[in-house]
Amino acid sequence: MSNYKNIDTALIHGGIAYDEFTGAVNVPVYLSSTFKQDGLGCRRRGYEYARTGNPTREALESLMAELDHGVAAFAFASGLAAIHAVLNLYHSGDNIVITSNVYGGTYRLLDKVFSHFGLTYTIADTSDVKAFESSLTPETKAVLIESPANPLMSVTNIAAIATSAHRHGVQVIVDNTFMTPYLQQPLRLGADIVVYSATKYLGGHSDLVAGVVVVNSEELGQRIAFLQNSIGAVLPPFDSYLLIRGIKTLGVRLDRHVDNAVKIAQYLADHPAVSRIYYPGLLSDPGYAVNQLQARNGGVMLSFELRDDYDYREFFRQLKLITLAESLGGVESLVCHPASMTHASIPADLRHQMGISDGLIRLSTGIEDVNDLIADLEQAIEKSKKI
Ligand code: PLP
Repeated sequence: MSNYKNIDTALIHGGIAYDEFTGAVNVPVYLSSTFKQDGLGCRRRGYEYARTGNPTREALESLMAELDHGVAAFAFASGLAAIHAVLNLYHSGDNIVITSNVYGGTYRLLDKVFSHFGLTYTIADTSDVKAFESSLTPETKAVLIESPANPLMSVTNIAAIATSAHRHGVQVIVDNTFMTPYLQQPLRLGADIVVYSATKYLGGHSDLVAGVVVVNSEELGQRIAFLQNSIGAVLPPFDSYLLIRGIKTLGVRLDRHVDNAVKIAQYLADHPAVSRIYYPGLLSDPGYAVNQLQARNGGVMLSFELRDDYDYREFFRQLKLITLAESLGGVESLVCHPASMTHASIPADLRHQMGISDGLIRLSTGIEDVNDLIADLEQAIEKSKKI
């Protein structure tokens, strides 16, 4: 539950927003690995050792729990460390259903790491509830959804999957990296666990790597707290401070990001060189209606393909303002080639089966002047025409 009716206020005042000791309006960076105890078993305010608990990290965790209307939140050293902790809730012989188009690193973690411990996974089109239901087996313990899913931006009806999953005793995990609690709140749609790569929009400035887990029950909170401390991939205090600082401007940043994304999506949709665009904020997108039901808008991420008489490699080479780089969610516009970058860990035949073509281009629209961004795209498209 949030103490604030409006998320724009919660972003700034939510959680532990200031230092009770000095009144400092920013939570201090507590660079201390250990804490003095006043006697055996007498820990001041519960702190003993910074892997288990650190006041700066705790301020961030309480803020994230509030923003997502969760019971508790936990900050990790990366998004994948957060997903790793969540997957540790399950055991050898259990099965996890994952959205097709899942982030490549999540796929790799399940396929190359957890498989050694007997945890299996099934890829399903979670945008279709019937396809999801037919993927379930008696061993299925959880479904991991991304909506919109990277990189084809396919939309899953989170509430419909949650209703069905819970009927089958299956927990619902949503990777909400692309939307953040500002645009979509999965726990309020029935999910049990939300995970983030906070490296992206939550941080917002491409200056840190971080992950967050938010849960909807005390029981899950206790289990994740145990795993966070036992595995130890915690977010350091300075990065926790940076993340709190980033979150304060999440609303204003995302408003501008989305405005730019909508204008660029419309520009690309009308462009004769573009054969396909994937963006759930466009009325023509198959996910538009469901996305409108569960999210504030279509978000920022979009992907597109150029017609065959354009050379996508040349397009990447010609961009001047928009940077070719992994990652997304920073104030600067980034472009990526999923087949060789974010989704390279997925075997080519499976990638093609998922609909990720070799020429797919993914754009993370920044907050620069949109006319400058469109001008850069225009000149790169023009110069990539095959002769
Ligand atoms: N989830 C999604 C949707 C992502 O895009 C990423 C990274 O790109 C991750 C998880 C992993 O996060 P991190 O890079 O912070 O470990």
